[in-house]
Amino acid sequence: MRGHQFSEDSPTSSYLLLRKLWERLSPILGENRRRVGLAFLCLLAAKAGLLCIPFLLKALVDGLDTNADQLALQAVLLLVVAYGAARLSNTLFGELRDTLFGRVTEKAMHSIGLQTFRHVHSLDIDYHLNRRTGGLARDIERGTNGISFLLRFFIFNIAPTLFEIAMVAILLLINYGAEYAGVIVVSVFLYGSFSFRATRWRTQYVREVNAADSESNTRAVDSLLNYETVKYFNNETFEAERYDASLDLWEQARRKNRLSLFALNGGQALIIAASQTLMLGMAAVSVNNGTMTLGDFILVNQFMLQLFMPLGFLGFVYREIKGAMANIERLFGVLEEAPSLAPAPADKALTVTTGRICFADVGFAYAPGNPVLKQFNMTIAGGETVALVGASGAGKSTLSKLLFRFYDPTEGAVEIDGTDIRFVSLDSVRRAIAVVPQDCVLFNDSLRENIRYGRPSATDEEVAQAIEAAYLGDVIERLPDGLESIVGERGLKLSGGERQRVSIARAVLKDAPILVFDEATSSLDSHSEQAVMSAFRALAGRHTALVIAHRLSTVVDADRIVVIEHGAVVEEGAHHDLLEANGRYAELWRIQRQQQV
Ligand code: ADP
Repeated sequence: MRGHQFSEDSPTSSYLLLRKLWERLSPILGENRRRVGLAFLCLLAAKAGLLCIPFLLKALVDGLDTNADQLALQAVLLLVVAYGAARLSNTLFGELRDTLFGRVTEKAMHSIGLQTFRHVHSLDIDYHLNRRTGGLARDIERGTNGISFLLRFFIFNIAPTLFEIAMVAILLLINYGAEYAGVIVVSVFLYGSFSFRATRWRTQYVREVNAADSESNTRAVDSLLNYETVKYFNNETFEAERYDASLDLWEQARRKNRLSLFALNGGQALIIAASQTLMLGMAAVSVNNGTMTLGDFILVNQFMLQLFMPLGFLGFVYREIKGAMANIERLFGVLEEAPSLAPAPADKALTVTTGRICFADVGFAYAPGNPVLKQFNMTIAGGETVALVGASGAGKSTLSKLLFRFYDPTEGAVEIDGTDIRFVSLDSVRRAIAVVPQDCVLFNDSLRENIRYGRPSATDEEVAQAIEAAYLGDVIERLPDGLESIVGERGLKLSGGERQRVSIARAVLKDAPILVFDEATSSLDSHSEQAVMSAFRALAGRHTALVIAHRLSTVVDADRIVVIEHGAVVEEGAHHDLLEANGRYAELWRIQRQQQV
């Protein structure tokens, strides 16, 4: 991913992250406030049940104790039932709370996942050229899971546990004096500060693991996507070795992570054991010298158990939350990636009348100081077919990318029917242009759905017309399942010429006033080429067409040929005029003719 770095782990960065998270989540929580409110009530009911348990136990023990005031059997049985009810309500309300709130968590994950997907699609082409699909998918997945975790545990674990600790300390203070409350407060403080420090120290290892995980996933996905290239060069072993190396790094990171976890867990266990022993010791002494009953001893013990269980869990939750925050941070890194195109007014649509295209004094560079186009001027009249020719790297594809507004020119302007395309909505500009790319990549779906992609609302009949217009009929006849055949990942089960005709069929369905045709560089067999050219001619006849031409056949048909060299027009005119002029075009023509012979 492009230049995305983790921020230093500091309280401020955690705070900032939580604030950003809150900004995104508060609308979702707000929409579901009834559910959230009910879940809170369940939480209170569950906690109330829990806090009753030690008192009921104490009453029971004292009631059964023959040395103290023994209770009647009915009273004892009543206490037993109350004890059972308290236990049940604790578990039941806990479950109910999770069930109620689960829906809110799912909605939040849904919304953030969708936001990220939309956002990644809104980013410009540079981001996608630099993107690493495997790692990105992992980051998004981990980030949304992190949000779900944070939601569930921050709201329903950390805050309630702190509340519970305070309640227990107060109850002990009232019933047994300051020293018991003091032990609780001190041990909770020790436990908290140790966990906090140790977890901060561990965060580096958690991040290391995540980075290594994304890296190895990126490697695996990239390698599988390039399946064919791997085969062409017999590089399976090389690929496996690279994957192995990244897995090695992952393994090392996991090891460090595990060891640091051991240190954290060990420290926490020590603090818990020490304070529990101390409290029990104190209670045992008090019972022994008669200042406490057996029931009191049980109560203290029960409170300790009840308190340190969520506290131990709190340590786990805090650890996981730090991990979740690191994941969310990565996800937000993706969400905060800003598109580099200047924003266009979304509500102002381009109106196309004739489809006239004008490149006016356009200057453009992919990287500063390395201009690809300099003061480029070219006008294509509405309905005209213009072929761009010139050596590879001359800037032909760049022109089509500027027209489609993948990039903005650094100087000058690109206009459609007199409107600078930067000043109307991106959507309306792209709606006006149908692109037949050089290498058409298809979705791994049926041929029918791939064609329909040109206009998802198209009827079967319209799809059939597009197939006819794109000369795809014979291809479909040959396929075992016809239109329903699945085309394979990226459409690789079809030939290059067939894929390009699928693109033409899509362009027919899109029915945009401007057509950009990036001719395939690799030579198609003559049958395929004829089919592609017939389809293209039929389509171009009704549109303003810009052709990036590599072969003579397209050039001859064009209304006008523009020869480009080093990002500037060196010659233009009709085929015969240019041949007569005997300039650069005539030379290119002779070279290609020779190659053909
Ligand atoms: P043509 O289509 O005439 O072969 P292009 O317009 O594709 O030429 O490329 C013009 C120049 O811009 C080439 O030198 C190419 O290397 C460079 N270029 C193309 N795309 C990018 C990119 N995304 N980032 C940096 N340089 C690029």
